[in-house]
This record gives sequence, structure tokens and C-alpha cells, in this order.
Amino acid sequence: MASIVKISAYLGALLALAACAAQPIDPQATPELPSQYKAKAAVKAQKYMIVSANPHASRAGLSVLQKGGSAVDAAIAAQMVLNVVEPQSSGIGGGGFLMHYATKTGSIEAFDGRETAPAKISPDVFLRPDGRPKGFYEAAVGGAAVGVPGLVAMLESAHKKHGKLPWADLFSPAINLAEKGFSVSERLHSLVARDKKLKTFPQTAALFYDAQGKALSIGTLLKNPELAQSLRLIAKGGASAFYQGEIGNDIVKAVNGANPNPGMLSLADMKSYTAKDRVPLCGPYRSWLVCGMPPPSSGGLATLQILGLLEGFDLTKIKPQSTEAVHLFAEAEKLAFADRNIYVSDPDFIPVPTTGLLDSGYLTDRRKSIDPKKSMGKAEPGLPGLISEAPFAPDQGGFGFSTTHISIIDEEGNALSMTTSIENAFGSRLLVRGFLLNNQLTDFSFLPIKNGSPVANSVEANKRPRSSMAPTLVFDALGKPALIVGSPGGSRIIGYVSNTILGVLDWKMDAQEAVSLPHYQNRNDLTELEKGSSLEALKIPLEALGHKIRLTPMTSGLHVIQVTPDGLIGGADPRREGIALGR
Ligand code: GLU
Repeated sequence: MASIVKISAYLGALLALAACAAQPIDPQATPELPSQYKAKAAVKAQKYMIVSANPHASRAGLSVLQKGGSAVDAAIAAQMVLNVVEPQSSGIGGGGFLMHYATKTGSIEAFDGRETAPAKISPDVFLRPDGRPKGFYEAAVGGAAVGVPGLVAMLESAHKKHGKLPWADLFSPAINLAEKGFSVSERLHSLVARDKKLKTFPQTAALFYDAQGKALSIGTLLKNPELAQSLRLIAKGGASAFYQGEIGNDIVKAVNGANPNPGMLSLADMKSYTAKDRVPLCGPYRSWLVCGMPPPSSGGLATLQILGLLEGFDLTKIKPQSTEAVHLFAEAEKLAFADRNIYVSDPDFIPVPTTGLLDSGYLTDRRKSIDPKKSMGKAEPGLPGLISEAPFAPDQGGFGFSTTHISIIDEEGNALSMTTSIENAFGSRLLVRGFLLNNQLTDFSFLPIKNGSPVANSVEANKRPRSSMAPTLVFDALGKPALIVGSPGGSRIIGYVSNTILGVLDWKMDAQEAVSLPHYQNRNDLTELEKGSSLEALKIPLEALGHKIRLTPMTSGLHVIQVTPDGLIGGADPRREGIALGR
């Protein structure tokens, strides 16, 4: 099939690169994280492993792997549990992207379960009557930003190809938890407590607040029988029970009847939704092959560009977390974001020049603007291939505090990296049959035209909004999975993922050390350093190089599996509640 990439196609080139790869220096001791985070220890296993954002979900995935289930089976079980216990982040009311490697065939696949805009959406849906863009929450809360959810269709498509256990069985752990209840976690409690929009809809408020209107306290047993019933219907009837039956009807009613912000969703939009098989975006980084999600996500492209730009520097000679490392990374990330902000959108609407943007000659040329001694300021987009003039206006976008990432490897060696989302924390705040609907359409540019030029990522009927999600698979020179990685974090996902890859590949950290590193980023504006971390000490030396610095919390949710000759190593982000489990 055209959308599948074979690992065998890359083997010769990778082996040649491995032969001349530089030896790395010894890693530095892991620098300090902000004090509110508890350190987590690396988890080791020999046969199989799952790392997800919540212990209940990791346990559900592990039990599937123990029964001989595939990576896809485990992902479905874990994802459904996440819908119950981490409802603010992802679920059947949202979408996501899934990267899969099948060990028997050497095939790498990219599943696109991104939400789509309804056929009747208006291009000015996110504009005020005076033509100015709406505020984020003004647009996000209610029905207008709800895209047709893609998660269930995507998981069904992946299960048809790679599932081993019956679809219906994979829903049992989630149905049990939703029915019997689970203890409200610290994170869920604090996100409910600080949310200012969750009381907009009485049904939603009834699930998350007590009789006095207070956020359910930590440890409260939270039951969600309506969600259990929805999951039962999907377990029995598959994706069509979601898109075509009573669930689909109720979604349409909730979206179009929302006050504020009624939407324009129809049952025809629901019925015509398809998850798409995309061609994975793969490129070499030193002697590894890095494969990520192509557009409509910008995640894979930007990650590969950052790595491709940094390939010109011997990072093994630079200390991780040093002024030099932050400077080079920030400059490379700026260049990648300048391109991302112009070129990436739904490729079924606007051709995205991915080949030109990843061409080694193009990247070599772009790399020339990185001066190791001085910040370039704001980066301009490049002109890859035959493009002579930047065709679109930039669109920064990328805001969000929800989303979740799962990494899995099963006993056969099949590898899975999946990031899923309902966009903002608690999405649109609309609750239907026990699950929250997404506000993913706010990932479109609110303005269709900027400074007289059209924006590629503009709102259009049936279009998928640009994402930053970056589920990634890294292969070694023999074509075997070496690293499975991904994170939530809006457009910061790109920096989190790229930096973790550098931590493991160049700085020889283990998966846990790499995800525990304090973060730095530059999305072509300010250089951000993780607030409260040891990186704060770099503010002055970076300013001396010309960086404008912002100290800010950077709550990634990196969940990583590293495959080593001695076995599997799992790393769970200390900034969230997740754990790695394996055997
Ligand atoms: N909606 C975002 C995206 O698709 C993800 C949001 C988040 O990570 O919080 O890029």
C-alpha cells in the first residue's frame, strides 16, 4: 500500500552513516527540575512495555500485553481508560495520531485520526462582527469549535490491521472503572478547581463538582455510568455505533444546541468521517532513522527539520543544558517554526512542500543562518524547491494544556507511538453521554487573511486543523526500533520531543533522564526556560547572545520507551502522573 514505508528502504544508508558516527562524550548528571516535581526512576523490562499518563491506563495496557495482545490492542485499552481517568486530556470526543511499526513486515504506518471541520462551517466562525479574531475561550467553549471526532475511527482502522485480541474485550477495563469509580487524582482535581469555564454547561458541572459546587476533592470516588454505557455501545457495535447511531445523534444535538456558540455539525459529517492512512515522514538523523507524523500535523516535519539543522553541529562535544546547547537548539527551532507557521496545513487542501523542506541541501543552506555566538533574532521562512516567494502569511497558533501520549512495544517487537487530544483542558466543555467533546477547530488560524496574504491553515469545510502532535519512532542502523517518544504541550510538543531525542541519541541519557531534563524552547519568538529549574541560571548568558528570555512552567507529558541491547527502558514525565510498566 502506498501509505506504508518499509524500513528496508533505509537500511543501506543508515549502516553507512553508522560507520562514520562520532563517539559521544559521557553524559552529565541530570540537572535539577523545579522542586514541585518528584523524581521518577527508570523502569526496565525485557519483553514488553507501556508508558502512559496514568497508572490505571498503564495497568490496563500491561494486562493486554500480558495476555498476548498487540501494541495496538494495548493502546486501545489504555486510551479508553484515559478517557475515564484523565477526561480533561483526550477521549472518544477527540482525535489523535498514531505511528506504528510492524516487526514482521518492517512496515511503518501513520494513522491520522484528526478532527474535521463540518461541511457547513463558516470561514469567519472565529471572527467577531468587526472582523477581529475572537479570544481563545470565546471561540473554544461551546459547539462552534467541535470537529468531527476521529479517535474511534482511527483506533478501529489500526485494530483491523494490527489487532490480535477481540475489539470488544479491550473496552472492559475502562467500562469497569467508569462503573465502579476511581479516585480523583491530584491533577484532575487541580485542573477542575482552576477551570473557569467548566460550569458553563450544567451536565458537565454535575460530573466534576460536588453538591456545594466545589471541585471534587482528591480521592473522591468518581463514577461515570453514562461513559460506561457509551463505551459498551462502541465495544459491541464498533466505530459505526459511534458515528451513526444514537451517540452520533447526541453529539450533533449537543454541538448545535450549545449556548454559547452553537455549531453547524450534521449527522452526514459524522457518517462521512474517515481516519486517513498517511505516508510517514522519515528522515535520517546521524545514524538513526526518525519517523514522525506528516501534515496535517506539523510535528514530524518540524522535529525532522530541527534534527536536520542540528546535525551540522557535534552535540556530543557540547554539554547538555549548557548556554551553547540552549542557544543552538533555540536557533534551529526558530528556523523550523518559521517554515511550519507558513507552510503546514491539511495536505488534502493545500500542498505542503515536505520534500523540499527536508531536503539536505535546503537544510544546509538554512543552517548557515545559525551563528554559534549570536542570536539571529526572529527567523524568516525559507523557500524550498521551486517556491520563489513565501506563499502564505505566518500563523503561530498552538495553545493547550491537555492531550496525552502513549508509547508501547509488544512482545513481538511491534512499536506504537500515539498522541491523542481534545485540545484544551476539558475541550469544548460540552459533555455528551459521559465524554467531553473537543475544541480542536481552534487549531485553525482564526484569521483567513493576514497582512493581505491568505493563511494556509485557514478554516474551511471538511478540512483538518494543523496540529503539533509528534508521535515519533526512531530506528537504529539495523532498522530496529530504538526509541518511542511523544508528548502533549500544544506547539511546545515539537521542542519537547526533539530535545528528548537529542538527550537519548547524542547525550546518551536513558529514557528517564532524558524526559526529566529541564526544558527550553524557542517557537520563533522568546527563548523559554522552564521556571524554577536549574536552567534559570542561563538567563544572563543567553541574553548576552541576544536572546529574549521568558521563564515559564513547561508541563510536558513525555512518555518514552528506549530499546537497548540490555532490554527496554521506560521514562515517564515527572511533571505528570504517568508510569512505565513492563515485563
Ligand atoms: N491541539 C493541539 C495540537 O493538536 C494539542 C494540544 C496540547 O498538546 O495541549 O497540536
